[in-house]
Amino acid sequence: MTDPIATHAGADSIIRMEAVNKWYGTFQVLTDIDLSVRTGERIVICGPSGSGKSTLIRCINRLETVQKGKIVVDGIELTAGGKNVDAVRAEVGMVFQQFNLFPHLTILQNCTLAPMRSRGMSKEEAEQVAMKYLSRVRIPEQAHKYPSQLSGGQQQRVAIARALCMSPKIMLFDEPTSALDPEMVKEVLDTMIGLAEDGMTMLCVTHEMGFARSVADRVIFMADGKIVEQAPPGEFFAQPKHEKTRQFLGQIL
Ligand code: ADP
Ligand code: MG
Repeated sequence: MTDPIATHAGADSIIRMEAVNKWYGTFQVLTDIDLSVRTGERIVICGPSGSGKSTLIRCINRLETVQKGKIVVDGIELTAGGKNVDAVRAEVGMVFQQFNLFPHLTILQNCTLAPMRSRGMSKEEAEQVAMKYLSRVRIPEQAHKYPSQLSGGQQQRVAIARALCMSPKIMLFDEPTSALDPEMVKEVLDTMIGLAEDGMTMLCVTHEMGFARSVADRVIFMADGKIVEQAPPGEFFAQPKHEKTRQFLGQIL
C-alpha cells in the first residue's frame, strides 16, 4: 500500500508493525498487518466481531505474541524475545471492556499497586500520583471505596486513572464503553477525549462513531484479520472504499 497515511514510515513512529501474522492453532487471526502510529496520533479501530481487533491491540503490549513479522514499540522490539515485556508494559496502558479492577482492593489501592511494585514508588508518592489522576477523571471522592460500590462508568474511569498512574506513552482501549449502560458512555468518552486533547497516543477499538469523528486522526477498518482500509474520519465515513466497510457502516450507523 502506498497511501501516505497508512505508512507514516520514519523515526517519529512510536508503534511499528511490519508484516505481522498470527495464528491461534491453525486459525490465522492476523494477516499481513502493517501499521505505523505517530507519537500523539489517535486511532480508532472498528470492524465486525471476530475480525481480530482485540488481538491486534493486545500484540502492542505483548498480551499476545505473534509468529511472524516485526513489532517495535517506542524503540523496543517485542518480537526479539521475552525480556522486553516489562519495559513495554510500563509504557503502554490498557483499558478493557470489563474494567478488570481488583475487587478486593480499594480504588486508591488499585491505582497505587503497579507504580509501587514496578516503578518502585513509595506509598506516599504513589498515593499522590493516584489522587492526581482520580481527580482528573473526576472521582477523587471515591478513593477509599471498593470497585463494587461504584457504577460501571466510574469503574471504567478508575481503570483509566489506574493506567495513567504508570505514566504510559501509549494508551490502548478495547471497547471501553461496550459493557456500560448507555447513560454512562458519555462520561467515559469525555475522559478519553480529555486524554486525546492532552496529546496522548491512543489506539481505541470502539464502535462509538461519534467519538471516531471528533477525536480520531485515522479510522482503521478490519475484517477477517486484515486491515481492509484506513482514512481520516471525514473521508472514511463519507467515502468508504470497500464493500465490507460499507456493509459494516450500514449496520452500525
Ligand atoms: P475482535 O476483537 O475483532 O472481536 P478477536 O481478536 O477477539 O476479534 O478474535 C479474532 C478471532 O480469533 C475470533 O475468531 C476469535 O474467536 C479468535 N480468538 C481470539 N482469541 C483466541 C484464543 N485465545 N484462542 C483461539 N482463538 C481465539
Ligand atoms: Mg474484541
